[in-house]
Amino acid sequence: MYKFTKPNVFFSKCLGFDSCRYNGEIIKDSFVESLKPFVNSITVCPEMSIGLGVPRNPIRVVCESNELILYQPKTEKEFTKEMNEFSDSYLKNLQDLDGFIFKKDSPSCGYKNVKVYNGTSKVTGSTKGSGFFGGRALELFPYIALEDEGRLYNYRIRNHFLTKIFISADFRKVKESNSLGELVKFRSTTLSFVYIVLKYV
Ligand code: SF4
Repeated sequence: MYKFTKPNVFFSKCLGFDSCRYNGEIIKDSFVESLKPFVNSITVCPEMSIGLGVPRNPIRVVCESNELILYQPKTEKEFTKEMNEFSDSYLKNLQDLDGFIFKKDSPSCGYKNVKVYNGTSKVTGSTKGSGFFGGRALELFPYIALEDEGRLYNYRIRNHFLTKIFISADFRKVKESNSLGELVKFRSTTLSFVYIVLKYV
């Protein structure tokens, strides 16, 4: 039987790994749960990593004087510098990664379609953008499989994501082996395996 290489996948920690949401909740996502046995999971909660506890007052992305800031309305505190520094140091140290699954809509983890408030006042309009951590990941890993749990409910997007992470993991192994034989084996077996996984995940 073909032995596949487990992809290394980053998950936002609240997606079934820890009760670290601002309100102490954990999110049980059925697709993430079914994927866990097939991958090596790497997780972090950026908001906890910059010292925000659980529970915590919610934060939001705000556009203020044409600059994006990470703002906590209740305390009127800003966490932009802390989150930017953490995102850079954490993401730049990730190695051999094959994909990311982020929590959608999060001002930290969301990588697209995150609400961006116009100004810090209570009554304010909004546009869409990236969360600080997810957006930085998108900049640093432009070619990697990168999605949020909401988009992965779309079968076509899920299919594409799974194909990408399993091919990436197998190709990593081929590169490490530096062997032409492994390259031929990769070409002939990886795609068949991906179709099998798609049937079960
Ligand atoms: S979305 Fe990201 S920052 Fe927010 S709770 Fe989940 S892991 Fe933590």
